[in-house]
Amino acid sequence: MDSLLRDTAERAIKYRKEIQNRKVAPSEEAIKNLNQFNIPLPDEPVDEKEVIEFLDRIGSPATIGISGPRFFGFVIGGSLPATLAANWLSSAWDQNAGLFVGSPVGAYLESVSLKWLLELFSLPPDCGGAFVTGASIANFTSLAAARHSVLQKAGWDVESDGLFGAPDVNVIVGEDAHVTIFKALGLLGMGRKRVIKVPVDNQGRMIANKIPKVKGPTIICAQAGNVNSGAFDPIDEIADIAKEQNAWLHIDGAFGLWAAVVPEKAHLVKGIEKADSWATDAHKLLNVPYDCGLALVRDEEVLRSAMTLTASYLPQEYRREPSQFTPELSRRSRGVEVWAALYSLGKKGLIELVERTCNNAKMFAEGLTAAGFEIVNDVVFNQVLVSFGDAETTNKVIKEIQNDGTCWCGGTNWQGKTIMRISISSWATTEEDVKLSLNAMIKSADKFKKEK
Ligand SMILES: *Cc1c(COP(=O)(O)O)cnc(C)c1O
Repeated sequence: MDSLLRDTAERAIKYRKEIQNRKVAPSEEAIKNLNQFNIPLPDEPVDEKEVIEFLDRIGSPATIGISGPRFFGFVIGGSLPATLAANWLSSAWDQNAGLFVGSPVGAYLESVSLKWLLELFSLPPDCGGAFVTGASIANFTSLAAARHSVLQKAGWDVESDGLFGAPDVNVIVGEDAHVTIFKALGLLGMGRKRVIKVPVDNQGRMIANKIPKVKGPTIICAQAGNVNSGAFDPIDEIADIAKEQNAWLHIDGAFGLWAAVVPEKAHLVKGIEKADSWATDAHKLLNVPYDCGLALVRDEEVLRSAMTLTASYLPQEYRREPSQFTPELSRRSRGVEVWAALYSLGKKGLIELVERTCNNAKMFAEGLTAAGFEIVNDVVFNQVLVSFGDAETTNKVIKEIQNDGTCWCGGTNWQGKTIMRISISSWATTEEDVKLSLNAMIKSADKFKKEK
C-alpha cells in the first residue's frame, strides 16, 4: 500500500503542476482514448499499481482544467492546496460523517465550520446547517424546511401526511431563478411549473414591487448572484414583502452569498439576515474540492424536523448528529475541507480571495471594452457577459477560444442575445492569467473581424 499511495501522490502532484500550462480543454485525441476504458470487466484481479497507471495515463488527459487558473466556463471553483491535502487525508480516514460515532472528527469539524461560516456571513449563530453535495441539494434541503414550516403553521404535518390533501402552498420565484430551484420544487412535490414567476429587470433581478399579494402558506425564493449576470435580487426589499405576507424567504446564494464576507460587497446582499433559509456552495468561491454545498436554516428545529430520521440502531441521545439535518444518512466528511479552507485562509485570506475574483472580472470587462467588444451586464461581482457581434460570430469566437486552449469559456443565451460568459471563481487565477486570457480572447475574436 505504501508505494501505491506514494506513487499516486506523485502522479497527482505532477498533474496539478502540468494543468497550469496544459490546454484547458482536453484534446480530441484524449477524449477518443477514453475508448480504452471500454473493455469487458476482467475476470481476474488487476494489480493495483497498474489500475492507477491506466487511470492516470488515459484519465488525466481527458480532464478539463478546472483545477488550473484559466477555466472560466460555468461558476466552478478550483481547489485550494490546503483543501486538496485535507481531502487526501480525509479520504484516507474514510469516515462516514452521518453520525458523530461514525466520525467524531467529521461531525466536530462540521460544527466548527458552520459556526465560522455563520459569523462570516453575519447570520444568526444558532442557525441550523447541512453539508450537502452542492447548491442544488442545498436548495432542496432549505425548501424542504420551508415546506415543513409553512404547512405546520397551517396545521399540516407534511413529513407524516404528505402533500395529498394538504393546504396549497404558494411558491414565488424570480423569472430568472436558477434551474435547480425548479428541480428542487419538483422533487418536493411542489411542482416545477406550479409557481408564480415575478418579472425581472435587464440584469435578471426580481422586480420586488411586482411580487403579488397572496394568501395562505407562501414561500418566496430570491437569488443572490445570477448565474449569468452575477446580479443580486433586491433582497432587503423582498425580505420586507415576505415579512408582510408572513412568507418563508429562501435565498439561493450559491456563489453570491460570499459577497457578505467582503465589506465593500456586502451592500449587494443587504437584508440577507432577514431570510429564513440560505443555500450556498463551498465548491465554488470557497474553492474546496468537489463536492460541497451548504443549506442554512434560521430555525435549526425546522430543518431538523424536515430531515430527521430515527431507527433503534441509531444513537438516541441528542447531540448534533449531522444526518439529522441532511437528506442523506451516510456521506463523506465535507466539513473537513471547508474547515481547512477557512483555517488556512483566515478571514483576511477569504476576503482577499473573493475580492480578487471580483477584480479579475473587472479587468476582463475593461480589457474587452477597450478592445471594442460589448459587455452586456453590469459587472458587480465575478461574472462578465460579452458579445462579439451577432450570434454566429460570438459562437465562432467561443469555439476559437476553446480550441486555442489558453482559457475556457462557454456561451449562453442572455435575454435573447447569444453571448460568452466569463465566470471567475478560482483561487488560482492571477492578474497574469487574466492578461494571458484577454490576449487569447482578443486574438480569437479579431480573427473573425478580419475574415468578414
Ligand atoms: C451553481 C448554482 C446552483 C447549483 O449548484 P450546484 O452546486 O451545481 O448544485 C444553484 N444556484 C445558483 C445561483 C448557482 O450558481
